[in-house]
Amino acid sequence: MSTVVSNIGLLVTNDGPERTAAALVLDHGRVVWVGDSAKAPAADERVDAGGRCVIPGFVDSHSHLVFAGDRADEFAARMAGRRYEAGGIRRTVAATRAATDAQLLATATRLVAEMRAQGTTTVEIKTGYGLTVDDEARSARLARTLTEEVTFLGAHIVPDGIERADYLDLVTGDMLDACAPYARWIDVFCDRGAFDESEARRILLAGRERGLGARMHGAQLAASGAVRLAVELDAASVDHCTFLEPHDVDALAGSDTVATLLPGVEFSTRSPYPDARRLIDAGVTVALASDCNPGSSFTSSLAFCIAVAVRDMGMTPAEALWSATAGGARALRRADVGHLAIGARADLVILDAPSYVHLAYRPGVPLVHRVLTAG
Ligand SMILES: [Zn+2]
Repeated sequence: MSTVVSNIGLLVTNDGPERTAAALVLDHGRVVWVGDSAKAPAADERVDAGGRCVIPGFVDSHSHLVFAGDRADEFAARMAGRRYEAGGIRRTVAATRAATDAQLLATATRLVAEMRAQGTTTVEIKTGYGLTVDDEARSARLARTLTEEVTFLGAHIVPDGIERADYLDLVTGDMLDACAPYARWIDVFCDRGAFDESEARRILLAGRERGLGARMHGAQLAASGAVRLAVELDAASVDHCTFLEPHDVDALAGSDTVATLLPGVEFSTRSPYPDARRLIDAGVTVALASDCNPGSSFTSSLAFCIAVAVRDMGMTPAEALWSATAGGARALRRADVGHLAIGARADLVILDAPSYVHLAYRPGVPLVHRVLTAG
């Protein structure tokens, strides 16, 4: 069935300039026509955008949705002055292991629906709160029922009750083998208090041998060689990128590795924001993602991330929108989402606003009028 979305006040396709008085035709889940609303061909169904702004669906390339438990108390303590450290993950690991499959799937499904209602049409989901072979495999299996973009993050932390060397053998051996059938990506938290660069190299290379693409959590807590390692291994993305040396920026700029910025984390941990302006000016491809997780960033809203990125990270509203759509698609190495060129997936959001600038200009206000998806 074909659908024409007509009377679009402002259309962002991420493929050429913004259009006014525009229309789109969608057929079999793809964009098949883009042009002036007055010249739009007929279709089986007509959606009148009523002069509203239409944007590509958000591509949230970084989330941790398979978990149990609540860490609101930790957030409140941080806001009262305590610093964020990586160890809080252990609480979520204990709660996740104790949960049933049905409980984990219900929470993740609810969060994906929450994202969808806010305009996110593609989401990546990581494991990383199981940290045993069986618990990681079930996290990957449950995530795979919700998205194609599943990431194995056994290397989140070394869990209690196992020696570090033994855990590394597991993450690069049996645990990886159990998760790889459900996953497209492998990720490692390469930072102060987490995994070092030689460990991260071993983990990502083991994933690559099993056919998984590399991603990395890096430079969130301190500068290190993590970013250069990610670039050297052609990771699709290095995520956080708060603490960067000049050579890190140069390495990213000359690579296909996206710098994925996660402003919800700095907001929720009251930490310094990454400098998006510096990255963009250097020619680095920047993505914005939610990092939705119960510890350091429990937001599912990319509109919120856009507002913070514009307010505090030096991005223009147009750059922030691009990073939350096309940038996220680059971070997942997807050519079919994040834009609305002819042939792209018909994933789009009709905003209850005349312009996408309202995403930052009207922070905290629900601005999604309607979400259309190919599925
Ligand atoms: Zn994360």
